[in-house]
Amino acid sequence: MQNYGKFYQKPWEERINLIKKNEKLTEKQIQILETAAQNKTLGNTMIENYITDYSYPEGIAFHYLINNKDYIVPMVTEEPSVVAASSHGASIIAKAGGFFASTSERLMIGQIIVENVEDTENLTKKIQKIGKELLLVADQAHPSLKRRGGGTRWLKTRILAADLVTIDIAIDVQEAMGANMINTMLEAVAKKLEELLNQQVLMSILSNYATECVARATCEIPVELLAKKGISGENIAKKISQASRVAQLDPYRAVTHNKGIMNGVDAVVMASGNDWRAIESGAHAYAARNGQYRGLSTWKLNNNCLIGELELPLPVGFVGGSIGIIPLVKVNQDLLKITSAQELECVIVSVGLAQNLAALLALVSEGIQKGHMRLQLKSLVIAAGADAIEEQTVVDKMLQAGKRDLESAKKILKEIRK
Ligand code: NDP
Repeated sequence: MQNYGKFYQKPWEERINLIKKNEKLTEKQIQILETAAQNKTLGNTMIENYITDYSYPEGIAFHYLINNKDYIVPMVTEEPSVVAASSHGASIIAKAGGFFASTSERLMIGQIIVENVEDTENLTKKIQKIGKELLLVADQAHPSLKRRGGGTRWLKTRILAADLVTIDIAIDVQEAMGANMINTMLEAVAKKLEELLNQQVLMSILSNYATECVARATCEIPVELLAKKGISGENIAKKISQASRVAQLDPYRAVTHNKGIMNGVDAVVMASGNDWRAIESGAHAYAARNGQYRGLSTWKLNNNCLIGELELPLPVGFVGGSIGIIPLVKVNQDLLKITSAQELECVIVSVGLAQNLAALLALVSEGIQKGHMRLQLKSLVIAAGADAIEEQTVVDKMLQAGKRDLESAKKILKEIRK
């Protein structure tokens, strides 16, 4: 470690030189680090000890008809098939009239955890008495939020243990995700609390369990739109609703069901410059809100229609955080033609539902691998060392031979290079 000195204080060139000196990287690897460092100023602004940019591909999903408006959706992901599946799911739903999406208010919960409490009931009463004053302190700590129509909405207390109480404050964050704003507000309240009640505060921070900032998408698909080669739409719809039941019953299946939803959700969250860890953690907690981890979406067969529904917490921002800093995010907002955080929520929850439909459709018909195979083979063939011209030929030969492994890719590549 000492070989790196005060790395954070050094200019970029010196950081790279230190890596060259201290690590066993080849010239080519160092060159990769250097060439990828395309946004040094931005990188240095955004994170600490910046050395390079790690880029992900961005693609566009089509056919999104949400609340009667057409969208094209930028998605950032490293996983093959996600964008194609998204467009496929959305195209079926568009033929059925599209998604109907809605959002709750945009309230985020901030927590102040009080520790070493002697009498929790008594403290709770005292806090309720000074509740209004505490909310005022919070609003005064970030007055611009109130001026925009946001700010604190309510305060509640919950006893966590004989010595621990949490004070939950709901804050309307308007167009931002709100984490920094809320943390500032909470710290002001914690200070006041210590002053007024002489009570020890363990921590003050927002909760990522955003139960008061929820988005919902539904769709209603006539079963005939689901028909696939040799399988009737009704049969597929029955199997999808059965798969949905399994995701409600079995956490092993539910996690994978939800991972498929998050394939789409995360890709748009990333493209829109939002904090995907916040969305991920909140979504999975929401999936377990009734005591058992379940699928976030449901599909039910009713009157010859497959009815899909997805609800999840989506505390995304339209401003704030890295949104105003990364130029591509503004481009993506313009591609999406969205004008608010709530509209972004509607898009994201719809993408989650489309992604889920596409995955279930594949799973209950031909299986997931068929659709994935070509793109997976492409990645494999590139890993084997093929260039852009060789890639197609090697993929075709692997498909013909029914091979899917790296060893075979290398062998075929060697043969075509002879
Ligand atoms: P910011 O700190 O950037 O605050 C939001 C900014 O947006 C403020 O400067 C605000 O201006 C401005 N703004 C402009 N217009 C509006 C509007 N209409 N509504 C609301 N705000 C507006 O971001 P957040 O507070 O949203 O925090 C998000 C960041 O915090 C993310 O990067 C996240 O990763 C990070 N974070 C996450 C944590 C977590 O999830 N647990 C913990 C800590 C940080 P003004 O100042 O004038 O009000």
